[in-house]
Amino acid sequence: MNLTEQIEALKREKNAIILAHYYQTEAIQDIADYVGDSLGLSQKAAQTDADVIVFAGVHFMAETAKILNPHKKVLLPDLNAGCSLADSCPPDLFKNFVAAHPDHKVVTYINCSAEIKALSDIVCTSSNALDIINSIPKSQPIIFAPDKNLGRYIMKQTGRELVLWDGSCVVHEAFSFEKLVALYQKHPTAKIIAHPESETHILNLAHYIGSTAGMINYVKQYPDEMYIVATEAGILHKMQEQVPNTTLIPAPAVEDNTCACSECGYMKVNTLQKLYDCLLHETPHITVAPSLRKKALLPIERMLTLST
Ligand code: SF4
Repeated sequence: MNLTEQIEALKREKNAIILAHYYQTEAIQDIADYVGDSLGLSQKAAQTDADVIVFAGVHFMAETAKILNPHKKVLLPDLNAGCSLADSCPPDLFKNFVAAHPDHKVVTYINCSAEIKALSDIVCTSSNALDIINSIPKSQPIIFAPDKNLGRYIMKQTGRELVLWDGSCVVHEAFSFEKLVALYQKHPTAKIIAHPESETHILNLAHYIGSTAGMINYVKQYPDEMYIVATEAGILHKMQEQVPNTTLIPAPAVEDNTCACSECGYMKVNTLQKLYDCLLHETPHITVAPSLRKKALLPIERMLTLST
């Protein structure tokens, strides 16, 4: 049997499900039971009746799945799959930040650690961030963390003042404004679509701004257009499947790398071989202390309730 067949056999044997983020490699996306954005993945993790969840994504995502499924085994193919955005919000500093803003509700983007979620009133993703903020009374002051770019986008869209934590994603801050303008001049009929973790000057050029799932839905609505896509390049795989006759061009990064686009090194540490190994040996698996889990669960559940 080849590696893919061996993974399928192990999955059946162990009643496992593979959840993969759009930024995973094509080989992993192709073998996954479900490929989605953070909201979709959290919803799937909350609903699954599998005994084992293999989370092909980064640590905070697998940790969220574990918080939702304390009695299931949650595996992450490589524990080094971290996140620069989650790392930009250390719990001790954030605790002081929250304490310095009494009477504020704390809304956190799901890209953060369980410790940060435990300090939050409600969690959001880029799919539901605007709805979550709009669900809070206008008179209520809000802290938003950890992504300042998403925070600024929410402020612009909702007209609300938010107290922002100064965090960001290295991948979404790597897009080059100059190169993007040059690319657009070369393809003036193309539509620029961007993830709200991108910087404001990139978002200002975009014809559509949304989550990864939102971007895929958008191109499906207008399949005859050409698109320049400003998010992690892994999304192009599923997007192209949905619109096979559309030209998709990854937005260029400041520093050219192998594909001249923006790739998340954390996401890409997972490989098919590591996925097979973790399923075979049931390690590495995610643990969350019960007291921390209890505190982190509530803001995630509030989000899921508001997102059904
Ligand atoms: S793309 Fe950015 S936010 Fe997403 S996992 Fe990678 S570093 Fe984190």
